[in-house]
Amino acid sequence: MKQTKEKDITAYSKEDLELTEEVLQKLLLWYQSARRDLPWRKTKDPYCIWISEIMLQQTRVEAVKEYYHRFLKVLPTVSHLAEASEETVLKLWEGLGYYSRARNLKKAAQQIISEHNGEFPRNFDAIRKLSGIGDYTAGSISSIAFDLPTPAVDGNVLRVMSRVLNDFSDITLTKTKKDMTALLSLVYPQKQCGDVTQSLMELGAMVCIPNGQPKCEECPLTDCCRAKQEGTVEQLPVKTEKAKRKTQKKTVFLLQCGEEYALRKRTEKGLLSGMWELPNCEGIFTEKQIASLFSNVLLAEKIGSYRHIFTHIEWEMECYRIIIAEKLPDYVWETEATIKEKYALPAAFRPFWEKR
Ligand code: SF4
Repeated sequence: MKQTKEKDITAYSKEDLELTEEVLQKLLLWYQSARRDLPWRKTKDPYCIWISEIMLQQTRVEAVKEYYHRFLKVLPTVSHLAEASEETVLKLWEGLGYYSRARNLKKAAQQIISEHNGEFPRNFDAIRKLSGIGDYTAGSISSIAFDLPTPAVDGNVLRVMSRVLNDFSDITLTKTKKDMTALLSLVYPQKQCGDVTQSLMELGAMVCIPNGQPKCEECPLTDCCRAKQEGTVEQLPVKTEKAKRKTQKKTVFLLQCGEEYALRKRTEKGLLSGMWELPNCEGIFTEKQIASLFSNVLLAEKIGSYRHIFTHIEWEMECYRIIIAEKLPDYVWETEATIKEKYALPAAFRPFWEKR
């Protein structure tokens, strides 16, 4: 791993180093009894750990469990994933969002087949080179599956460590993440590395939780946490505000002809690239404008409004059910059963689809 002992960690003092070492030892002990019984913690298979780590990014543990079991049932190995059609992978991912992650999983599986003879690479640098895998995921797979001393530093770990060290560095900066990774690399034990990684994650998820409400009274680090001692817990971590999301208005159509519904594929670039969607157009259209868009209309009615929030943008949508007498050529027309079975419809459109 690149984050090694040669790395400059002048951002931290000798006392910081000693405290971090103490923290990892205490967490390791605590984790033995406090760990949650999660399906991906019952295996050392790097493939399963990889799938769970990608699913867990931005999604709640409870929601991931079902996806995890379903995905591994259909695609139990790297070869199955590499050979699966993109539609199959996206369908298994449907509802998790961030569909580029699912596509990258498939690409990385193909890389493992072509560059590593189908065997999951066993070191940080090789794992880091796989499609869609960054420092955090490479660190977590290397430590959990192969017991390598490779920290995995995400927002949870940064929050815990900022508080423990009473560190007011801005955790949204890459430098802060790099410094923290270097610090942890220096004191990571040579054994039980996977448990150390997971104990930090577990404390961040269950005890040292965000938004100024950590459960310090239950925390195994109460005696050594500097923020607790200094009374600065609620000021940490320091995070610069993200730019405000832009809003886009859209009119969406649940377009039906007989037993079939219209879908179309989004372009290969940008938000939800290459995904299937309900027909829609930019802006909120009046009923008169909508009437001019379609011919042979048997029914046109508004069925709802909905706001969908993506990372950097939000869609404010109004949806109309339009029943027409003749299919329009610009769309793919499928029955409800086929759409359910084969097409992954992004969460942004699902509230309208559910009203069909
Ligand atoms: S004592 Fe409180 S602030 Fe410090 S690590 Fe534990 S939960 Fe977080």
